[in-house]
Amino acid sequence: MSEKKSFEIARETLKQLTVRKLAPTPGNYKAIYNEIAGIPSVEHFPAQELRGIASVLQAKTPGQQRQKGLLDSAIDRMNWDGVRAALVAYSGFSQASSSTESGTAQVSAWSAADAAPALTSEFLSQMGRLIEYAQPALGTDDERFTEQSAQLIKALKHPGMDVIAVKLLLVNYSHRLSFAAEDQAEIKIGLLKLLQLVFENIAELSLDDQWLKGQMEALKSASAPPLTLRRLDDVERLLKDVISKQKDAKQKTLVAQDEMRQMLAAFIDRLSQMSQSTGSYQEKLEESARLIENSKSINEIAPVLKEIVVATRDIANETLLARDELQAMRKQADSTQAQIAKLHQELDRVSTQARHDPLTGALNRRGLEEALEKELSSFRRKETPLSVALLDIDNFKALNDALGHAVGDTALSHLAQVARECMRPQDTLARFGGEEFVILLPDTPMDKGIEAMTRLQRELTKRFFMAGTEKVLITFSAGVAQLSSDEPGMDAIRRADKAMYLAKRAGKNRVIGS
Ligand code: GH3
Ligand code: MG
Ligand code: MG
Repeated sequence: MSEKKSFEIARETLKQLTVRKLAPTPGNYKAIYNEIAGIPSVEHFPAQELRGIASVLQAKTPGQQRQKGLLDSAIDRMNWDGVRAALVAYSGFSQASSSTESGTAQVSAWSAADAAPALTSEFLSQMGRLIEYAQPALGTDDERFTEQSAQLIKALKHPGMDVIAVKLLLVNYSHRLSFAAEDQAEIKIGLLKLLQLVFENIAELSLDDQWLKGQMEALKSASAPPLTLRRLDDVERLLKDVISKQKDAKQKTLVAQDEMRQMLAAFIDRLSQMSQSTGSYQEKLEESARLIENSKSINEIAPVLKEIVVATRDIANETLLARDELQAMRKQADSTQAQIAKLHQELDRVSTQARHDPLTGALNRRGLEEALEKELSSFRRKETPLSVALLDIDNFKALNDALGHAVGDTALSHLAQVARECMRPQDTLARFGGEEFVILLPDTPMDKGIEAMTRLQRELTKRFFMAGTEKVLITFSAGVAQLSSDEPGMDAIRRADKAMYLAKRAGKNRVIGS
């Protein structure tokens, strides 16, 4: 067979463009030209393969028939856009022949036996699990809602469910879900307010106790929203401290009160006995005076005098006894006084056993040791990285000197507040010393720990500390150390401390890893 000349190919190409009703675009021209010339097309249009696919598509409903026709014509025209549009529209009608072509196409597609049934039922049961897992967070107060959830979960997990019925259940569920979620959010806010109110009241009752007042302030700030699990943990520890101190104080005050009451009762008893004795002595004297007045001889006076002497001696003895008893009582009162003083000392000792620093609400050294133990055991168990950061405020002495110690105290609280808000819930803030803080960073390698500290520095440049109307920028230098597997926690803190000193030496306001 002789080769066609190029002008013949060109003429045939133009003819085919008209026959096939193709737009005379350069692309179409090139494709037909290559087809006729037998040149393999660079952008091959797999017309044959597509026709093969089209031929196996069912055309049971009018919608399917129409889209199948459009697909055939798009293949003829080598029109990819047309092929895509026809296939997408066809998939909308790919339902069992019993279904109508109404707007339920999307829902019905789920139930189509030939539309990936395994994926669909897996997806629906996943949805069922999702609703099941979310349920505890939404509470069980609303019985109707709980019932609806159970119904929906059952329907979603049921393999041969009626899709329209499930859709209806879903609509009702999501409607009620919006109310339940709103309720839960409001309940949380309400409970927090209540908690704050309780703390305020306890603080009012403990006005005379400075330590307790400080702890209550820390409690109030720890329970301020937004609440995280870490903060709840903090609130719990603080509350334990306060309760243990309150209990101790109450117990000892009750004992002291009881002793005082017993002493007072004995004293009153003694007083009444004395007044009885002095009363009968008085009567005896009056009686004797009368006898002496009426006596006619000295002989009659002698026994009277004798009686007076006896009565006087008795009363003197009794007075002496009473004086001794009163002295014993005074001794007892002194010792009770000493006991009360001891009680105060004891309370101070209890306060040093607290885990929180009352000024900043951060953990104190004791609290840090406990938290470090906890983090260390989880670090060793889970084998996830644990880092510690030690930060020291820059030029804090100068701030104290310029603005006063009280303002310095508020600056410390400000730093602790910003740090708490900037940290993740699982991080722990502790006051290590005067103006030094330690932050425990679980699941954190050193580079991420350095990033976290740098983020805190940036946050402090945004949230100035206000000394009255004056904006004060607080900066700090920090060292970060990642714990090695068997390293004691305090050793890592010491490494972080050394890195912090390097940061000071390098010009302050920076973070260095150890
Ligand atoms: P550097 O940048 O080198 O850290 O200098 P600095 O002034 O911050 O450090 P220095 O150690 O010289 O001083 C720390 C100051 O912190 C001195 C101390 O009075 C003050 N300070 C410690 N604890 C408290 C506190 O509870 N309240 C207040 N207001 N000041 C405190
Ligand atoms: Mg220091
Ligand atoms: Mg300092």
